[in-house]
Amino acid sequence: MKTHQVKILTNLQVSDRYWHMKVDLSEINLTVQPGQFFNIKCDQNVYPFLRRPLSVYRIDNEEKTLEFLYLVKGIGTKRMTNLKKSTNVDIFGPLGVGFRLREEDETILLLARGVGVATLAALAYAAARNGKKVHAILSARHEDDLLATEFLESIGVIIYKVTDEVGNSDVTKVEALIKKISLYSKIDSLYTCGSKRLAKIIQKIAKRDNIPGEIALEEHMGCAMGVCFACVCDIRVGDKIKSVRVCHEGPVFPIEKVIL
Ligand SMILES: Cc1cc2nc3c(=O)[nH]c(=O)nc-3n(C[C@H](O)[C@H](O)[C@H](O)COP(=O)(O)OP(=O)(O)OC[C@H]3O[C@@H](n4cnc5c(N)ncnc54)[C@H](O)[C@@H]3O)c2cc1C
Repeated sequence: MKTHQVKILTNLQVSDRYWHMKVDLSEINLTVQPGQFFNIKCDQNVYPFLRRPLSVYRIDNEEKTLEFLYLVKGIGTKRMTNLKKSTNVDIFGPLGVGFRLREEDETILLLARGVGVATLAALAYAAARNGKKVHAILSARHEDDLLATEFLESIGVIIYKVTDEVGNSDVTKVEALIKKISLYSKIDSLYTCGSKRLAKIIQKIAKRDNIPGEIALEEHMGCAMGVCFACVCDIRVGDKIKSVRVCHEGPVFPIEKVIL
């Protein structure tokens, strides 16, 4: 775990609220797993003092590049939009525990809400490259916030778009959609990120149908290396409740353990 000064290849606005950054990894050797994240220094100056965690959106080992997809939320991500092509950005990582892609799985289903797709896209890419069939339900407020659809389609992922605007993104409708998908395609594993409300569906289906599932959690982070305990959440271990650090024991957890 260390910080790296990497060159920005592009840092571009991709929709009203979202930006995409691609950095050059040709000078360093990093093994990065889908679901892991980097803690990013958003400005060359001291302020904002704390770095901001961003998941790995895409890793290209041949091209030796790493990509992030980010929602401009507050001061940190706003400052990130000022980072210029050909300058360096300071990234710390890769951090945390990534997703587990089971070799025996033939078909997986991903459920992403909003920028949760940034976290699940790397997993979709890894799964598709391993010859797995990938269904991805992408949920957002508006059509404009449905990100990465072209990229996912280009790698063969079967996309289902649901939005608040259209009125097909509520829990009941998403659950019905998963049921419909599983009628013609046996789902071997489930993955989710971006909404605890939607994650409850995955937790319910995983338990009911005995399907393995994982969730990538997002919590406010301080140090992102397990020291400050700012990102603690509760999980179930046997019949006990245990507090764990999202940055260190997570951010990916087995869905059945997480208290949503
Ligand atoms: C492991 C991990 C991976 C992440 N991956 C991505 C990603 O790939 N793309 C992306 O766009 N975002 C991602 N996030 C969320 C991202 O880190 C926050 O949106 C970002 O830190 C906000 O910083 P800011 O300075 O722009 O906003 P701030 O000024 O810090 O916050 C703006 C608002 O967002 C709230 N907020 C800040 N951080 C979080 C958080 N972690 N969870 C919930 N609410 C928060 C604040 O309370 C405030 O209301 C990830 C978070 C974690 C923990």
